[in-house]
Amino acid sequence: MRLIAAILIAAATIGAAPLQAPSGVRLSAFECGRLVQPDLGRFNDTMLFAGERREFAAGCFIVRHPKGVLLWDTGLSAEMAARAPDRMTAGQPIAERLKALGLTPADVTHVGISHYHADHTGGARAFPDANLLIGAKDWAAVQAMAGDDPQRAALKPWTDGPAKVTPVTGDRDVFGDGSVMMLTMPGHTPGHSALLVRTARNGAVLISGDQYHFRENRPVRGVPTFNASRAETLASHDRFEGIAKNLKARVVIQHDPRDLAALPAFPKELD
Ligand SMILES: [Zn+2]
Repeated sequence: MRLIAAILIAAATIGAAPLQAPSGVRLSAFECGRLVQPDLGRFNDTMLFAGERREFAAGCFIVRHPKGVLLWDTGLSAEMAARAPDRMTAGQPIAERLKALGLTPADVTHVGISHYHADHTGGARAFPDANLLIGAKDWAAVQAMAGDDPQRAALKPWTDGPAKVTPVTGDRDVFGDGSVMMLTMPGHTPGHSALLVRTARNGAVLISGDQYHFRENRPVRGVPTFNASRAETLASHDRFEGIAKNLKARVVIQHDPRDLAALPAFPKELD
């Protein structure tokens, strides 16, 4: 009996993940600020890239689905950029950007955060009506921060207000049909996630969070010196690469300006 039950459970699990992407899922992206990294050495703990200077983008993504709109990561705030104006620039406010898609902040049903770092949460506060999706361990870390910590303040409608938050354990099927999946990829932070978007015409797109920060760190599976866990990062690299390969996914590294520039120019969408 146990074996039969196990097989039935396995069959139900397989049935829950549709292989066919539904139509009507559209993805677009734009830059939400820039960050100069004077020394790439800290992004790889095997001494690669030391001394190289690189400019990162902060990528923001809009996923339009028949059941709602997900904003994935929200870039740098103007206040944060003002702390180091020689190194950081904030982008145009996201609400302004959304106008090009005919959207207002009230249309954004979900704000998904790959992790709690300030270059990913800067624009979140403008969307207090949205359900915040954040890895449960990152949410716990944010809640443990002092009230004046800018990383907590960036999420104030959810930490200190009535806004709806969903702390995510494991993966999260955002709209219930397998087309938009938050994927648990711990290591950069304890609750770090990547995002998988499956479109009908353009196939799977795997959006990195900070699993990698730039293209050259991917083939060498680099681990930043400041990550929360080296072992978890490597395990997540393994999962990320497996999914990329198996789904023949287009990988978008959020901080790499080349990957953002390779997408259709906003407000054009992948569908
Ligand atoms: Zn980042």
